Amino acid sequence: MKRLVAAALCAASFLCAQNRPVTRPVASQRPKLVVMIVVDQFRYDYLTRFRSEFSGGLKRLLDRGAVFTNAHYEHSPTVTAVGHSIVLSGAMPSSSGIVGNEWLDRATGKQVTSVTDDNVALLGLAGKKGSSPTRLLVSTVGDELKMSGRAPAKVVGVSIKDRSAIMPAGRMADGAYWFDKPSGRFVSSTWYFKQFPEWAAKFNDRKIVEKFKDSAGFDKTAEGKAGNDIVELFAEAAIEGENLGGNGGTDLLSMSFSANDTVGHAKGPDSAEVHEITLHTDKVLARFFDFVDKRVGLSNALFVLTADHGVAPVPELMQSRRMPGGRMSDTVVFDAITKALNDRYGEAKWIVGKSGPSPYFDHKLIADSKLDLEEVQQTAAQAARNVPHIARVFTREELRRGLALNDRIGQRVQNGFFYPRASDLVIIPEPYWLFEKSGTSHGTPWNYDSHVPIVFLGAQVKPGRYHGAASVVDIAPTLSVILDVDLPSGASGRVLTEMLAQ
Ligand SMILES: [Zn+2]
Repeated sequence: MKRLVAAALCAASFLCAQNRPVTRPVASQRPKLVVMIVVDQFRYDYLTRFRSEFSGGLKRLLDRGAVFTNAHYEHSPTVTAVGHSIVLSGAMPSSSGIVGNEWLDRATGKQVTSVTDDNVALLGLAGKKGSSPTRLLVSTVGDELKMSGRAPAKVVGVSIKDRSAIMPAGRMADGAYWFDKPSGRFVSSTWYFKQFPEWAAKFNDRKIVEKFKDSAGFDKTAEGKAGNDIVELFAEAAIEGENLGGNGGTDLLSMSFSANDTVGHAKGPDSAEVHEITLHTDKVLARFFDFVDKRVGLSNALFVLTADHGVAPVPELMQSRRMPGGRMSDTVVFDAITKALNDRYGEAKWIVGKSGPSPYFDHKLIADSKLDLEEVQQTAAQAARNVPHIARVFTREELRRGLALNDRIGQRVQNGFFYPRASDLVIIPEPYWLFEKSGTSHGTPWNYDSHVPIVFLGAQVKPGRYHGAASVVDIAPTLSVILDVDLPSGASGRVLTEMLAQ
């Protein structure tokens, strides 16, 4: 209003010419839309293995983007919730508090997921519990856009999985939407709004999922592939529904493709099925780029591609290659721990929770038995170390004092450590060893789980291949300088200055 009055007064006087507010040249170079694309379980080497066969979105990113060839996650465990919590916060679990897909909540004694929130309800579907970012302790780029006080920014997250929609978008997001498989509908929670937005309800009414069910062979793999199509179509609806890229400032859309993870777990990185879904992802992204081009203009958008983690090769294949690796049951480790504690302190139920292969002990039992917690942890750690193919075991107290071996693996475990939510032991298997009975998995600090793509594409970026060390925690600080907003509160990476145009 003040500006309008000043402008009206100025119109009547030539004197005002020199008092005109200075427009910052950088403003016009800011993108109208930032799109964060996360592919769930996507190894960097998929880009190089299949490059000659890409013709769509991945080809565009590789040909015209800034491609980081040596980008890693620098934390453990390399799982979905943690990866997604890092991409737009730049924060390690040691700051964000997101230490796994699930952990034991010491306050309630209950096992929780990264997005469990009993105080919110599900929207878009009646009678189910909601999810929220309430356990995320840091800000994201989207939150910083919101808090910058500039033109209103809209922030939206979309995925099949709740945690993958919620984590990158952050706490102040206008909405996060995920897919409820049984009903075939996208849902959200009362964390974001009281009423499910009309555009999203309309999308659900279109019954898009039914169309994909008609395609030949609706098996798990086909369902997986349809997952990416469904997310992309919903992202298009979100761009239209929220007018993303057209709200006068910079809007942010985070979209995460989960289908690659489903197929990858079942078949492994060397399978025909992973090859196929990677090429399919290339096509899905082509459709998305076309849509953004028509709606917002590609020159007005900034795209970032990454993954939430890599994956290990299938152990049986590794054995045929005469490489190390194999399978073990995590119950073998837990049984060894329980036996050692029973032998030493008497029989009891010591383990009351877990996060992946890492156990939580009953602290009340240990206190009531007048036992020294640190000594109990050491006893258990020694038992776990004696299990074949366990590479390293850390206790919670060791990590609290920063005593992990200071190599890359130790540093990654330390970065994944947040005391209030930490397990009593962190157990790392030898490279290529899995706790799964079939298929394959991820979660370790070894490089096959940590090496992922980082590609930036937009007017602010110098295309090329960049071979220097980069980390996924670098994405958020880099976006912050491009968007000219403050650094997210827990961001620990560097600005990728080598690829910035100007
Ligand atoms: Zn996974």
